[in-house]
Amino acid sequence: MKILVAVKRVLDYNVKARVKADKSGVDLSNVKMSMNPFDEIAVEEALRISEAGKADEVVAVSLGVSQAQETLRTAMAMGADRGILVESDAELQPLAVAKLLKHVIEKEQPDLVLLGKQAIDDDSNQTGQMLAALMDWPQATFASKVEVGEGKAQVTREIDGGLETIEVTLPAVITTDLRLNEPRYAKLPNIMKAKKKPLDVIPVADTGVDVTPRLEVLEVNEPQARSAGIKVSSVDELVDKLKNEAKVI
Ligand code: AMP
Repeated sequence: MKILVAVKRVLDYNVKARVKADKSGVDLSNVKMSMNPFDEIAVEEALRISEAGKADEVVAVSLGVSQAQETLRTAMAMGADRGILVESDAELQPLAVAKLLKHVIEKEQPDLVLLGKQAIDDDSNQTGQMLAALMDWPQATFASKVEVGEGKAQVTREIDGGLETIEVTLPAVITTDLRLNEPRYAKLPNIMKAKKKPLDVIPVADTGVDVTPRLEVLEVNEPQARSAGIKVSSVDELVDKLKNEAKVI
């Protein structure tokens, strides 16, 4: 069995996003970029399936700028066998990403495709679902447990108010939720080994996929600053403020 894992290069989750002066987007100059956290979980899950003897190859795929090769090297340092970058300097929206992943899937013929449930930069939560629709494959989103069997997988999903377990036939698309696993850290010797693993770069123009953006960003704004709170000295003062200032009781 072959597993394909989609890994996106995003603004590191510890970095505070700064909006560009012209409000056209988030300023990504000179900031730390990392693998999307949900994609780290997807890589970890692929590796665990492989280590359990249920898969023989884990291929990491990224779509975007040349520097996304670093993200692929991280996936390979964690344990992925090889990487594929579909290189594009243009912004790639979820539909374009899904179409490009379809292109890679048609070449690679994986039995399972793992993605994060969402990318923490655009928060779209669309790519996995669009990919499953384009492939006409079953999908299991928001996975908190994955058990791969003969030609099928049982997936426990986090839904409102509980957990749902479904079975999908393979090939299928699975998207990962936060509680699926805790991703491993890449060890130094594995970081060194990853430098020698194969990484194919495919120019987006060679795929023949139309990646024209379908959505236009009108404006990006910082969240409104919250005003500072105050300390009250007694319950009576609190009740008075809630009644007469906030007028909520
Ligand atoms: P989104 O639909 O943008 O929230 O992204 C959901 C998931 O799709 C991510 O967690 C990734 O696994 C995958 N994905 C989205 N964009 C890319 C990209 N440019 N390269 C690789 N994977 C991506």
